[in-house]
Amino acid sequence: MNATANPFEIARDTLKQLAARRIAPTPDNYQTLYHEIAGTKPADADFPERHLRSLAAALPRNSPDQLRLARQLDDAIKQSNWEDYRKHLAEFIGTLIEQQKLGWADLITDLLRQWEAKHPGLTAARKREALEHVLAGSSANPELLYGRLQNLLKSWGQGQGQDRTETLQTEIQSDTPSTAAGQQAQLRELLAFTLDTAIASQLAEHPPLASDAQHLASDIRRVTTESDLREFHNHLKRFAFKLELLAEDQAELRHSLLGLLQLLVSNIHELVVDDRWLHGQIEIVRDIIDKPLSQRSLDDAERHLKEVLFKQSQLKTSLFEARNAIKQMLAGFVDQLADFADATSEYHDKIDACAVKVSAANDIGELEEVLAEVMRETRNIQFNAQRSHDELRSTQEKAQKAEARIRELEKELEETSDLVRHDQLTGVLNRRGLEDMFNKEVARATRHDTALCIALLDIDNFKKLNDSMGHDAGDQALIHLAKVCRDTLRPQDTVARYGGEEFIILLPETLLDDAAHVLTRLQRELTKRFFLHGNEKVLITFSAGVTQMADGDDQGSVVKRADEAMYEAKQTGKNRVISR
Ligand code: GH3
Ligand code: MG
Ligand code: MG
Repeated sequence: MNATANPFEIARDTLKQLAARRIAPTPDNYQTLYHEIAGTKPADADFPERHLRSLAAALPRNSPDQLRLARQLDDAIKQSNWEDYRKHLAEFIGTLIEQQKLGWADLITDLLRQWEAKHPGLTAARKREALEHVLAGSSANPELLYGRLQNLLKSWGQGQGQDRTETLQTEIQSDTPSTAAGQQAQLRELLAFTLDTAIASQLAEHPPLASDAQHLASDIRRVTTESDLREFHNHLKRFAFKLELLAEDQAELRHSLLGLLQLLVSNIHELVVDDRWLHGQIEIVRDIIDKPLSQRSLDDAERHLKEVLFKQSQLKTSLFEARNAIKQMLAGFVDQLADFADATSEYHDKIDACAVKVSAANDIGELEEVLAEVMRETRNIQFNAQRSHDELRSTQEKAQKAEARIRELEKELEETSDLVRHDQLTGVLNRRGLEDMFNKEVARATRHDTALCIALLDIDNFKKLNDSMGHDAGDQALIHLAKVCRDTLRPQDTVARYGGEEFIILLPETLLDDAAHVLTRLQRELTKRFFLHGNEKVLITFSAGVTQMADGDDQGSVVKRADEAMYEAKQTGKNRVISR
């Protein structure tokens, strides 16, 4: 049921949609669209759920295979998926037939032959005991029984010469009770196996120790006397001591490395002149080293850092080019100034010479010549001054442009560093960004004593959308939802992608009832703004849980509460908003 509308409204919406989408108003089309809008499932007339359920319930559930089948059938019924139901049933029957094909006749002939044959160290009573044990432990599962019987016969046939590991495995599998000597041999073999396989492989980076482990394994297999055992014991103790030292060294190494990293991270301000481009990356590293190390968090961080570093390296190249352009312009201008200075000093010399000529002049004719020279030189210098002035202006403009470009690039670099807080697909905050925002909002709400609500929403039947329209369409639907959220919510509300198709919304200064209304409005907005896949209009709905931050809550507890409410919304028919 749609929480926002009663059946009348859904019916009216359905009729409107039939008209809007130009779908023929047949009973089937009406029913399909009605359920799409209501977010409910049509009762599939072709799927005899009740009968199939009773058939599944009547099947035995005694072995792992039978249990698996029952679970598969239950799932298929839940999804009204007749194809899956038929496939799982057919596969199960197929394996039953395969099992019947096991070579029982040959195995029984072999059993009879070996039963009567003499085997060194094996009495008839022990054979009977072992056989009874295998029968009791595996009679419910023919395949298992077949394998164990085969192993048992193999161990009888191989007698004393057989591989010890196999003896061990056979005995363990068939759980054959053994004598004290047998048990000792088993334990010896287990120890050798542990040294050889488990311990030596852990020591791949320390070849001398790995080879010690392998030697010890072969020593223990050869131990026959008391003194052998004592010697082995001493070697083992020495080996254990070396392992202990190695473990201490490694712990210390790890501790020092982490310390170094911490030092680097906390002093990054001192080490780097301009660390604005780094804060996103540094946050990641800080996050990792503050928590217990895990391969997953390291991998995630590496992936994020690589993306950011790649973008930053591109931006830095552009920045470098822009700075170079300014440098070249300035260098050119300085050259010109130098030329100009040369020209003016030449001018001064010439004017001085003219002054000398003027004082020495005896007649007007000579003076006219000097005057003409002065005029010529002055015109030249004026022309040069004008040219330099023009060039100065154009260089100034170019420098201003280049500077603006540099500022732009620097801003972009800073924003790229912040990319690690945003989801790459939808552009809304990612989990890391949400965490920061959450802390800020909680601090603000506490400071001003205002309400803060949190909503968790999960798209309904998203897997189906992916399956029917493709993963790319699924991605576009996520982008569409994020956009509708951003357009519908207030600027002070925060939208974050919490996981695959789950989003979290923080609503500051909002009481619980109002928050639920906001989510309902968002649902309505989504029914109005269809997601367009090609020319096809696709209706996306979501289920949401809304809750208000209370005293003693932290991010974990409040998200958990919203998640439980969201789960209830799913359980009670999807496409609804539940407050808690
Ligand atoms: P429900 O209504 O109960 O929520 O069912 P559902 O199908 O929405 O939920 P389910 O958890 O079964 O499936 C979620 C799907 O979301 C599975 C996963 O493939 C898909 N998904 C997760 N992240 C992305 C993504 O980034 N892009 C796309 N296209 N699909 C995604
Ligand atoms: Mg989900
Ligand atoms: Mg979902």
